[in-house]
Amino acid sequence: MQIQNKWNRAMIDLVFPRRCPICDEVMPYGAKGICGKHELLPYVTEPTCMKCGKSLDDEELEYCADCRTHTRSFERAYPVFRYVEPVASSVLAIKYHNKREYVEYYGSLVAERIRKAGLAERLQIILPVPVHRSKLRKRGYNQAELLADVVGRRLDIPVDNGHLLRVSDTTPQKELSPLERANNIKQALEVRALPAEWKTVLLIDDIYTTGATVQACTEALQEAGVEQVYVGVICIGEGR
Ligand SMILES: [Zn+2]
Ligand SMILES: [Zn+2]
Repeated sequence: MQIQNKWNRAMIDLVFPRRCPICDEVMPYGAKGICGKHELLPYVTEPTCMKCGKSLDDEELEYCADCRTHTRSFERAYPVFRYVEPVASSVLAIKYHNKREYVEYYGSLVAERIRKAGLAERLQIILPVPVHRSKLRKRGYNQAELLADVVGRRLDIPVDNGHLLRVSDTTPQKELSPLERANNIKQALEVRALPAEWKTVLLIDDIYTTGATVQACTEALQEAGVEQVYVGVICIGEGR
């Protein structure tokens, strides 16, 4: 079976060679991760905000300006990268240009970040930020779900997409304040029959921008009995 799988993988690599998730160039046969051209990727560097995990300029501060002014009910978010080039286009391509294959690379980095934070043993379940059925039909997949699958496999934690649901399709309106936006998203969410033993969970999304989406998911989960929500994302906007 193992040999069969290896053989299949080799055939797939020959017909559809792997591409570098950052620049989309074809990778040499059998190569993993990214190509050798990218030395300075925009990793989040310390010091970081104790809440959203974005880099801070001032190491005297515990929280960034956004987290000081907005409600954050989750414990902490762990972004890997800043949401700038060359990562930004690459991550958007997962969603808009069907670059599902990039998820393996990013998922392994998110998993490593969570493991280093010492969370792997404490999490009962991994939940991807849900999308509405109509979006799923149009796109064919939920990128957060694909990412969660990689993280779950790497950390050996189960992934669930049947309890935290997006039941209406709200397109976020730019003119709304962060609070209004969070309420809007929250009304679109539904938590259905959540198992009582899920007390500490990891929420997974691709990009953290205002934090409104993960905040809304956190509130919905906490109302359903979850105690601690941690957040794993590929990248985080610069914010304030
Ligand atoms: Zn490359
Ligand atoms: Zn913050």
